[in-house]
Amino acid sequence: MNRDFIISSVKWGVNPKGYYGDFGGAYIPEMLYPNVEQLRQQYLDIIYEQGFQEEFHMLLKDYVGRPSPLFHAERLSAKYGTTIYLKREDLNHTGAHKINNTVGQILLAERLGKKRIIAETGAGQHGVATATVCALKGLECIIYMGEVDIERQAPNVARMKMMGAKVVPAVSGSKTLKDATNEAMRDWINNPIDTHYIIGSVVGPHPYPDMVARFQSVISEETKKQLLEKTGSENPDIVMACVGGGSNAMGMFYHFLDDQDVRLIAVEAAGLGVYSGESAATTILGKEGVLHGSRSILMQNDDGQVIEPYSISAGLDYPGIGPQHAHLFKQNRAEYVSITDDEAMQAGRLCSELEGIIPAIETAHALAYLEKMIFTGKESVVICLSGRGDKDLDTYMNYFNL
Ligand SMILES: *Cc1c(COP(=O)(O)O)cnc(C)c1O
Repeated sequence: MNRDFIISSVKWGVNPKGYYGDFGGAYIPEMLYPNVEQLRQQYLDIIYEQGFQEEFHMLLKDYVGRPSPLFHAERLSAKYGTTIYLKREDLNHTGAHKINNTVGQILLAERLGKKRIIAETGAGQHGVATATVCALKGLECIIYMGEVDIERQAPNVARMKMMGAKVVPAVSGSKTLKDATNEAMRDWINNPIDTHYIIGSVVGPHPYPDMVARFQSVISEETKKQLLEKTGSENPDIVMACVGGGSNAMGMFYHFLDDQDVRLIAVEAAGLGVYSGESAATTILGKEGVLHGSRSILMQNDDGQVIEPYSISAGLDYPGIGPQHAHLFKQNRAEYVSITDDEAMQAGRLCSELEGIIPAIETAHALAYLEKMIFTGKESVVICLSGRGDKDLDTYMNYFNL
């Protein structure tokens, strides 16, 4: 990681006011201002301090299991007629990229003197990653989760409890992620001194999107080194990732942002079809507005009410994207495309059968876009394999009648 990135990528990085072009900022209730302001003033000094960097990289290596391999997927490559590499975030401890961010934020929370950690979770993946690092550091952990999600995601709830976290049901509204987020915000307002709120994607008020992107940027940092070793060039032609809030994609894009020759492709979830009314294709359906503390692009009706998103993959079932993605979209630096439930499920099965790697259904959306591309055969493509599919086996089994 490189602190100078804030200067080197004036064009794509956050500016000192917390904006990416028209997007970003910190739209928060006044009661949260002291917490967010403390973070804003201190986060760069803390995370680029030498002791922090040493501990962060030690934990990524010895606890998370990094560097994650960059795998040349030969049978997928043969099928699509080009060279395809998979960046194996599925091999991280806890099975996805989310742990990169929670390790970073727990070290930050320690240095801010916080004793209590809160987080919200939908599918439970971020809750598990947060409970994991809280156990590692012996910090109190409270996870807010919609009552409906608690029922749907029982194995992840069990994991969190096993590691000593308290899982608090959110019982208002639709009893899902956005209600859990409201509960977590309320908790933070009531406990401003001793509590750190770990947000799980590149969303939320500044400095969260920038902070999370920096922690996840280890993905592209490693990829460059690995490609150089394998191919003699540190840049591929195309980099692809799925986008819910956008953290695995931001980590995968980060060190390629200034390499204009590298095509960046972000894959959103189209659910039952972009215009079916059951979708999470934010950039196609969304408009500019404020969601969860920052200005971005989100799905909303004419009155500005957030539209409930839908995707078969819980991790992509989010009505917005992070502000940096909104900027990359508006400035055409990255391409935003979408994939339906059915297309993703087929791609998940194909990857399982061709490579012996069962991807998370989120990740399968990125893989599915290969079907829609036309290759000359000379391209090299890196896909962020954001997570493993163990959590999705029931969904795969039901879908394919296995
Ligand atoms: C949570 C999750 C996602 C979506 O979150 P981003 O912040 O967009 O990366 C994607 N893949 C997996 C495996 C996840 O757990």
